[in-house]
Amino acid sequence: MGIRTLISSTALLFLTSTLSEPGASAVSLLPEGELADRLGAALKVLRSVPTGRSLLERGRKRFHLADTASLRSLFKWSDVSRTDAVLTRHYDPGSQTEVRERLVTVYLKKNQSFDDLVLDVAHEMTHAAGEPNWDPYDPHLTAVRYIRASLEGPGGEVDALANECRVSLELSARYGTSAHRCERYRLGHSQNQVDRVKIRKDFYRMGAFHKEILQALGSEAASFPDLSTESPTLFSSTGNAPYPLALLREFQEINGVACSNTRRRLSLVAQNSGRSDPSRSPASEGALGSQPTSAPSDAKTETFLKLRCTQD
Ligand SMILES: [Zn+2]
Repeated sequence: MGIRTLISSTALLFLTSTLSEPGASAVSLLPEGELADRLGAALKVLRSVPTGRSLLERGRKRFHLADTASLRSLFKWSDVSRTDAVLTRHYDPGSQTEVRERLVTVYLKKNQSFDDLVLDVAHEMTHAAGEPNWDPYDPHLTAVRYIRASLEGPGGEVDALANECRVSLELSARYGTSAHRCERYRLGHSQNQVDRVKIRKDFYRMGAFHKEILQALGSEAASFPDLSTESPTLFSSTGNAPYPLALLREFQEINGVACSNTRRRLSLVAQNSGRSDPSRSPASEGALGSQPTSAPSDAKTETFLKLRCTQD
């Protein structure tokens, strides 16, 4: 029996790119008669172009599924599209054993056009299939590292938008649909090459939020020379702000949860010290993706509290 510590964190997250023009497309990708199964139809359309196919295949492998159609078990409808990864630590203070489990759910915006839904699936699949590139309990995780990893790391926002746009251009070339969300990033006249430099630059456009992020980051702002006053084109759908600021707020929230979880664990360890029972079995979880790890040493926990939890 273990103790359950939940960190409803998540990094991965977040669609999306509200590019300015809504631009309805004259041609729709939704095949007739498939209204009832929009998700199944979206996966089918994605499988018909190279980038979509390889993204779904990556997801299939990541979640150990028999086929890409089974990916739909990861999806839930919602009012915004985003990917959540919930990290749970099961910790047994008696045996000091820790098991970690990471559950991924992809939320998809329900009320949007079918063509936009297809692109959202491509975008979120990039996040969902990526390996986590930060650990909420890493003593050396900082706001700067968190923002950088979430934007520029593998499976981060730049990757997700680049994939979404590759898919959009491939679909446009194949079916004659509009690529309005992505024309801006088309590289020359190519059918699926996108301008990653421009995408990356756009994520750092802060406009009126520029002052706020500089103040919040303080001396750390020097780590982001690309933060600009140009008016933002990309907003986090969950944070209602340009990504760097939304991610900074998210980091503060995750940090608070990680600190209180760690303090709670310490007090459980203290309560249990001196009465540990060697016959107790360690926490064992058979769930997919569980990884047994040794519990952090006292020294690591102290370093964590010292480096991450002095401000609250
Ligand atoms: Zn995203």
